[in-house]
Order: sequence, then C-alpha cells, then structure tokens
Amino acid sequence: MVARRGLCAAAVVVSSATAAVTAGAVVAGEDAPARSAARGAPAATPVAALAGSLAGKVIVIDPGHNGLNHRHPKIINRKVKAGPFRKACDTTGTSTGSGYTEAAYTFDVATRLARALRAKGAKVVLTRPNNKGVGPCIDERAAIANRLRADVALSVHADGAPSGRRGFHVITPGYVKGYTGPIVKPSQRLAYDVRHAFRKGTGQPYADYIGRNGIDVRKDLGGLNMSKVPKVFIECGNMRNRTDAAKMRSAAWRQRAADALAAGLNTYLRR
Ligand SMILES: [Zn+2]
Repeated sequence: MVARRGLCAAAVVVSSATAAVTAGAVVAGEDAPARSAARGAPAATPVAALAGSLAGKVIVIDPGHNGLNHRHPKIINRKVKAGPFRKACDTTGTSTGSGYTEAAYTFDVATRLARALRAKGAKVVLTRPNNKGVGPCIDERAAIANRLRADVALSVHADGAPSGRRGFHVITPGYVKGYTGPIVKPSQRLAYDVRHAFRKGTGQPYADYIGRNGIDVRKDLGGLNMSKVPKVFIECGNMRNRTDAAKMRSAAWRQRAADALAAGLNTYLRR
C-alpha cells in the first residue's frame, strides 16, 4: 500500500486491529512505505566502537506504536499535526506471522538500547514506559525530544512488507519547508551512522524493496516532520518475512540489534 502522507493507511488500520494482530495480517504503520518518496544517496561511513562516555548527552528512544493501540481506535485515529498536514495519532503497527507484534518488538529493543546507553552515562528517555498502553501520538513522540532538547532521537520500528522481501532500512527526514530544515543534514549523518552500525552489528542486509542501500528519505512522517532535534527511524526488518521474523523473535538477536544501535548513536554523538 502506498501510504502517502498516511491519509489512507491510518484510517483503515484500526477498525479490525484486534483481528489483524491475532491473525497476523499486514497492518501499515505511520512508517508504512511511501514508495514515491525521494531517495537518498548513502555514503561510506567509518564506525567507532562503543567507547568512552556519553555523560551529558540526552537521547530519546521512541519504540514505535504501543501494545494496546488496537483497542483504542478513536484515540489513535484522531488526526494530529504531522508537519504541514494532519495525520492519524498513531497506528497499531504490524506483526510476524506467529503474532509477535511490532509494538512488543520495538519496546524490547528500545529497553535494551536504553540500558546500553545509560551504562555509558547518557540520559535516556523512552517515549512510552511499557507496552501495555495506547499512544502517545506521533506529534507528542517528537515533542518529548524537543522539550528535552535532546542531542538525538531514534524511532525503532519493524516493517510489514510483502513476505518475499527482507532487510532493514533507515528513514531520514526530507526537506519540508518550515519544519525539517534545521534537522535534515544532521539527521542524514545520523542515518549513515545508524545504518553502518546496524549492518555491521546484526548482519541484516539492506532492504531489497525500498530505499537505496538501506536509506530512505521521507517527508510524510509526522514523527520526523515535527522533530526539532536530529532524528531517524529504523525499520529493523520485515516482520512478514520468515527469515527476518525469526531474527526479530530471538532475544539474542534483539540484544545484538540494540547494541548495534547504541554503537551507531555513539558514533554520531562523537562527531
Ligand atoms: Zn512501525
């Protein structure tokens, strides 16, 4: 599904969300691929080990979606500001064929990532405290990092693409006049650092269905358009693909993913 500006995706997602999650149907998120989006040209980037201290750094980690979004369609279908347009508050996210939800995956990876970064002295704030609630909306997820004047923000997701496709990609904000101008360039550097570290640390290939060399540039995501701090999304893999799903269901692999993301953020914060 082409979810340009999300105007269709959000509205159709929630009505049968409980069934969708339990049946493992594909559910598009705010991060659903917008295949008409501009493409970014990646560049080779060296990566540093997770060395030294992150004391004084403020990092916001945004675990995509929430565990009970599917029970609250009125709340998550409500339109919120997403840049120069409005978009649904949030969506349910996708799931593996066996019913492991994107919301559970993102919260687990975010928790592991926060632990790794706090161990290096960073102040880390998650945009939701558990996987048992609804929301917050995409504009609030950005506002949390803005209020903290975070040094960097990362939104963790997993994709729901056709089952024959796989791999990860990092989504970086395109230029949206009046919104993303100040964050486009630093977010692009962040995207390269996260991409490099994630591939190195997890062995995941670049997505074979979207973006270019693991990078996609988008102007339709409220979570990016409303951010005043450097921010990217990562789609860690395709939950609808058996190979990627098996990885994401593995706690050991999720730890590797979190460690890789910590390394990527560390590289960025040390530039
Ligand atoms: Zn998502």
